[in-house]
Amino acid sequence: MENKINGIHHITALASDPQKNYDFYTGVLGLRLVKKTVNFDAPDVYHLYYGDETGRPGTILTFFPFPGTRRGKRGTGEISAVAFSIPESSLNYWMDRFAELAIGFDGPHKRFDETYISILDPDGMNVELVVDEAVGSIAGWNNGRIPFEHSIRKIFGATFYTDDSSKTELLLLGTMGFNFTGTSDSRKRYTCGSDESLARIDLIENGKKQPASGGAGSVHHIAWRTAGDEEQLGWHKKITDAGFYPTKVMDRNYFRSIYFREPGGILFEIATDSPGFLIDESLDNLGTSLKLPAWYEEKRYTIENILLPLETVYSKKNLIN
Ligand code: ZN
Repeated sequence: MENKINGIHHITALASDPQKNYDFYTGVLGLRLVKKTVNFDAPDVYHLYYGDETGRPGTILTFFPFPGTRRGKRGTGEISAVAFSIPESSLNYWMDRFAELAIGFDGPHKRFDETYISILDPDGMNVELVVDEAVGSIAGWNNGRIPFEHSIRKIFGATFYTDDSSKTELLLLGTMGFNFTGTSDSRKRYTCGSDESLARIDLIENGKKQPASGGAGSVHHIAWRTAGDEEQLGWHKKITDAGFYPTKVMDRNYFRSIYFREPGGILFEIATDSPGFLIDESLDNLGTSLKLPAWYEEKRYTIENILLPLETVYSKKNLIN
């Protein structure tokens, strides 16, 4: 049995327009679309997975784009920012890039020992790029837009807004094997994983603000890594013993998942590293066609007709610069 969560597996958020979402995350931030599929619980909505070249756990940010949906409102009980790691020498590159693309950014600021800048995605989600000294040796992904050496390497961590951090802290430290590493202004930082899988969670208590209201630009859930099925069942028992109510194991085709809500209101998932995104597409072809799990294949025609067209092959008209 694992005693510690081994980092972030993925983070999933809500969006509105799928094309704008795709253009921003691949075209502006240079991530790779590693899987184009549907929400397995609502197959009339895309599920877009972005990550590094192979879609390693810890690099994956995913979206459910609901065309025309209203924006979410920031508040307590949600993940208020998603942070990516960039190499030490890349900050100026990214600031120049955003300036050239006329994308407003905030910063650079300092937090703990790191320098970061933040931008808003097309739906208002707060995305931070954090200088992370440890990621220089991690291979980057180059889709022809971002020089290889400046590419985003992984998810650095996430910020939680909470009413009362004590119960969330108990879950992270007491049950999930996180470490507490310090405070910076109003942030308390907790880490899980190590080396490449190291991830940081910052808890900010902002109890006087309104509860968050989910919508486009809101994070839906955060998934933590576990190695395989046996370890996941161990986590199911451990989470249950701690007084939570995890779901049964769900087959997400590329991983298997259990879900439960932490005391502060954020939806947690524990997802297996295996089998990964290469089970139904080759490395070269990741993300190039609509993939459906076997149980939806017979409805492919209907599903394809409901989904908005999504142009995922680079062409001149899609080039942002
Ligand atoms: Zn998930």
